[in-house]
Amino acid sequence: MSKKDLLRGFSPSIDYRSMLLFISVGLLIIGLTLWNWHYDIRPRLINEAESNARVLAASHARAIESQFQNVSGNTDISLIHNSINEMLLINDPGTRETLYRGIALEVDYDVFPADYDMVNIDVGDTNCSECIISENPIFIHRTGELAAILKVWANPVFYQRLVDDIIDNLALLLLGVVVVLVLAWMTSNRLLYNLREREKSLTVEVAERKAVEDRLQQIATYDQLTNLPNRYLLQADLKRKLQETARNKKMLATLFFDIDHFKEINDIHGHEAGDIMLREAAQRVSDITRNYDLLARFGGDEFVMIMSNVTNRSDVIYVAEKIISSFNRPFELPDAEATVSTSIGISVYPEDGDDPSELLKNADLAMYRAKADGRNGYQFFNAEMNLELQYSQWVETNLREALNNDGLELHFQPQVNLDTGKIESCEALIRWPQGNGDQINPVDFIRIAERTGLINELSTWVLNETCRQVNKWTDRGYKTVRVDINLSSKDFSDKGVLYNFLQTLRRHNLQPHQIGVEITENILLESTDQVIKALSVLHNAGVHISIDDFGTGFSSLNYLKQLPLSGIKIDQSFVHEAPSNKDDLIIIQAITLVGHGFGLDVVAEGVETEWHESLCKGVGCNTMQGNYVSEPLSARRFAKQFLKKS
Ligand code: C2E
Ligand code: MG
Ligand code: MG
Repeated sequence: MSKKDLLRGFSPSIDYRSMLLFISVGLLIIGLTLWNWHYDIRPRLINEAESNARVLAASHARAIESQFQNVSGNTDISLIHNSINEMLLINDPGTRETLYRGIALEVDYDVFPADYDMVNIDVGDTNCSECIISENPIFIHRTGELAAILKVWANPVFYQRLVDDIIDNLALLLLGVVVVLVLAWMTSNRLLYNLREREKSLTVEVAERKAVEDRLQQIATYDQLTNLPNRYLLQADLKRKLQETARNKKMLATLFFDIDHFKEINDIHGHEAGDIMLREAAQRVSDITRNYDLLARFGGDEFVMIMSNVTNRSDVIYVAEKIISSFNRPFELPDAEATVSTSIGISVYPEDGDDPSELLKNADLAMYRAKADGRNGYQFFNAEMNLELQYSQWVETNLREALNNDGLELHFQPQVNLDTGKIESCEALIRWPQGNGDQINPVDFIRIAERTGLINELSTWVLNETCRQVNKWTDRGYKTVRVDINLSSKDFSDKGVLYNFLQTLRRHNLQPHQIGVEITENILLESTDQVIKALSVLHNAGVHISIDDFGTGFSSLNYLKQLPLSGIKIDQSFVHEAPSNKDDLIIIQAITLVGHGFGLDVVAEGVETEWHESLCKGVGCNTMQGNYVSEPLSARRFAKQFLKKS
């Protein structure tokens, strides 16, 4: 809001009010003075004037009479005398009109009758030459007689008194005027002072308000941690830049990137360290951002760079590589140094979209591909990714439907003791049969379920279905074995199945040792204390916990020591290659050795041949699982083939 706007709303009501009051008082005084003059002095003066007029008129009439007699002894004199008497000596109010009318022949009595107060009567020409008498047309008209003209002159004494009276009252009048002026002056001065003061404070207020508005604007459009534009400013800017690029017939690139395994930094080093890393990362990338490009924080650890005026893709690759290498230097955190990497997804206008949300979505999609390809790299968006997106949307919709309509099944694969050849346990593996007899690869739909959050429901279903199945087998007289279910990292969240695990078992009247869990190494990357705590509860209760696909992921031996584990499952890729690749055999050997060192069962996965079996047995694995024994089977077939009747 501008200063002008603020002043518009300002109304100095108190000052205006008091000024109005003062002026009213002044006007009242003036009014009273005039009132007093009009109703008190004026009639008094008029009365006085009238009586004086009468006295003087009488004396003058007498004078005229004698004058007339002296001058000519004219017979007409009595007539004149009578007329004059009639005109001047009548003081009856009822007939006063006649008097005045007579006098008013010369003076406008309507205007100010007091002027007749002091009269001096002249007698005009008479019919006889010496007589001073002139014709009075009205009188003649009224009486049909010749009459004298009376002239009324203002008497100086009368006027002096009149003026004195007026002056007396004028003093009061002037006092009123002066009071009004003084008070008006004082009020206006006060008003001006107040206005100036108000203006001064308004200036300060406006400046403060402007600062607050600027700050709010800054907060609304800039990220407070990194001082980079936020996603709202980014979207607005991107829209503008797109229009510009369209006009210039150039290209525009959207680079979407985040910090790989940023959650681990937060979990291990704390959120403060995470913030430091984000600030530092923003600074490093800012340093390599060209003036006309835009770098924004999209949210969390996600950043977006908009490169406009791009002529070819190599410009974009050059910048993407610079961003990647800017992450190569370790980050100084309060308690340690940390090395991280970044993965970048790139979409290009006009090929990959022509509006901000499409370009951002496609760049985001490309970033996921860059991550899937091993991180620390960049990926340009391509149409295939869009297909993938459509596919994942299809999976999301249909998997939800399958979950609600018994469209999913569990298959079971035995795990056999390598020494005894007896079945010890089995693994429950999810199946999603399609109407046409096809199967959708669990790896694919589980990844999508993890991304869309459907995994919680899915894992809950798997656990319940496994429990139901175990009870069904028992009910049918089978002696059941431990069934291990696969859990995903998202199952470790607050709402995850892990936290209801023991209650679920109790609800199905099962013992903790009857259902085991398999977790992947990657879970350990994404969670720490919380995971260890939850796993310890299960482990202490007697739940078998193993690490699946060991050797392919994070592979830190440290967590074998930290985690409450019961076993490890060597990834099938090592087993498959072991016969032909000595390194893989050595890895299997080493894993087995370490596993045993920590007192864990070691399971070899993907055992497909007798050779695999003997290699695994040779290196000391306890258990094998794979198609050599059996591929995953339906519950009925599994029970028939591998479970004994009790
Ligand atoms: P996994 O837990 O490592 O499961 C073993 C996978 O190897 C299964 O694939 C199984 O069919 C396959 N397999 C077993 N023996 C052999 C063999 O001798 N040769 C070969 N080539 N493959 C063999 P599947 O059923 O397709 O499952 C793939 C992955 O999907 C699983 O890997 C697991 O990570 C995930 N998964 C399966 N079911 C579930 C589930 O219910 N929940 C979760 N979260 N993940 C599941
Ligand atoms: Mg598994
Ligand atoms: Mg596995």
